[in-house]
Amino acid sequence: MSIFFPFDNSYARLGTGFSAAQAPVKVSAPRLIAINRALAADLNIALGADEEMAQIFGGNALPGGAQPIAQAYAGHQFGGFSPQLGDGRAVLLGEVLDKKGQRRDIQLKGSGPTPFSRNGDGRAWLGPVLREYVLSEAMHAMGIPTTRALAAVSTGDAVHRQEGALPGAVLTRVAASHLRVGTFQFFAARQNIPALRQLYDYTRARHYPEAQSPGDLLRAVIERQATLVAEWLGVGFIHGVMNTDNTALSGETIDYGPCAFLDVWHPQTVYSSIDRNGRYAYDNQARIIVWNMAQFASALIPLMEDQDSAITDFTEAVHAMPAVIEAEWLRIFGAKLGLANPFEEDRALIDDLLRLMQEAEVDFTNTFRALARPDASDTFAEIAGFAAWHVRWQARLAREDKWRVRMNAANPAFIPRNHRIEEMIAAAVDGDFSPFRRLLDVLSRPYTDQPGAADLTQPPAPHEVVRATFCGT
Ligand code: AMP
Ligand code: MG
Repeated sequence: MSIFFPFDNSYARLGTGFSAAQAPVKVSAPRLIAINRALAADLNIALGADEEMAQIFGGNALPGGAQPIAQAYAGHQFGGFSPQLGDGRAVLLGEVLDKKGQRRDIQLKGSGPTPFSRNGDGRAWLGPVLREYVLSEAMHAMGIPTTRALAAVSTGDAVHRQEGALPGAVLTRVAASHLRVGTFQFFAARQNIPALRQLYDYTRARHYPEAQSPGDLLRAVIERQATLVAEWLGVGFIHGVMNTDNTALSGETIDYGPCAFLDVWHPQTVYSSIDRNGRYAYDNQARIIVWNMAQFASALIPLMEDQDSAITDFTEAVHAMPAVIEAEWLRIFGAKLGLANPFEEDRALIDDLLRLMQEAEVDFTNTFRALARPDASDTFAEIAGFAAWHVRWQARLAREDKWRVRMNAANPAFIPRNHRIEEMIAAAVDGDFSPFRRLLDVLSRPYTDQPGAADLTQPPAPHEVVRATFCGT
């Protein structure tokens, strides 16, 4: 293979306990659906001809320097602990240093079975691949930390799911790392302290070099996750499967499965078909991330010499997290209302608006976007209670300048709406990738009004409302 990526594979060097050597399994007829040229340039990757890249990103050919591995991890799934998960349908090709000198993982997802596949086929079908491609790139464009999409390839092979035979695909994902809470849990559950220590050293060096101790690492991860989840709430994102194996230590959004953006704001919104009890409902995300950080803290305890005082210290850090999330929430929702430095008293102003929106069943995204428009008070005149709320808000804004600019930078005009995602997938299955390309293009500028794409700002008509999303695994 003439293509060479400038790989430097530090995770593979950790040794056999951390991963299993696993080449991607070949596919019949790889065809490139999409390739993210800007991201490739950022990763210092020189791309070859499309046919050659389809071979690489479909898993049929390895770029020079690759050392493909499947990573081991454990995790709490819906609250129950699975000591053995791991990459069951993904292989890490290797790591590169990007233009900023940051180490980034390049991983194929849907690339065939691995030693961690359990009963799975190791494959992905087109729907979830395009969904993750669009959602992760949209998230990035909104300024929210996330894994990225580098390429999507159709395989020419059928993937069998409940719905029947579906077109297979492979996603190439880029991440700051694939270290998860579940990675620490894997070694902690086995009481493999040397490996746990090695993992701690590795994580610290890769993401938090300023951390002097496991406690510092815990506090740093808590801080990033608190911000991340508050940012999700700010754009109406519901991850759907916040298992500890889907919580990245880097603080990036990872593992886009049955995730969705809410249309109407309602705190208990759930889309995921597998989330029967609403464990990962919109509003619960702020509580679940604290629970996940408690699991991370537990997995760090075996590293500590004085475990009793470590338990006290770590418990305190976890208990402090809700207040950090609340503060981040206030900052983010404050900005959505144009407030540069929101005060505690502003919470009521925000909460009251959310309740009005919930009762009136208006669109979450469009309402916040429209509030910055000069005619906002007319637009919402028919919403009961809005006029009084608007007077309070305007009075508060008297103390702010440039609030319209701030609002337009905090309230996306475009989000990946569930009904548009479903429509895009249906078209792609029929061989029409133009809705996919259009969504990608429009969502790359989410804070810019784009008159030609006004249809993509429309909430779903009653018959278009998506009520359930599926992980497609
Ligand atoms: P998820 O919740 O989608 O992140 O996946 C949970 C676990 O199931 C991970 O260990 C995945 O690698 C594994 N998994 C998901 N889908 C498949 C599949 N089609 N084949 C094999 N393993 C899978
Ligand atoms: Mg996962």
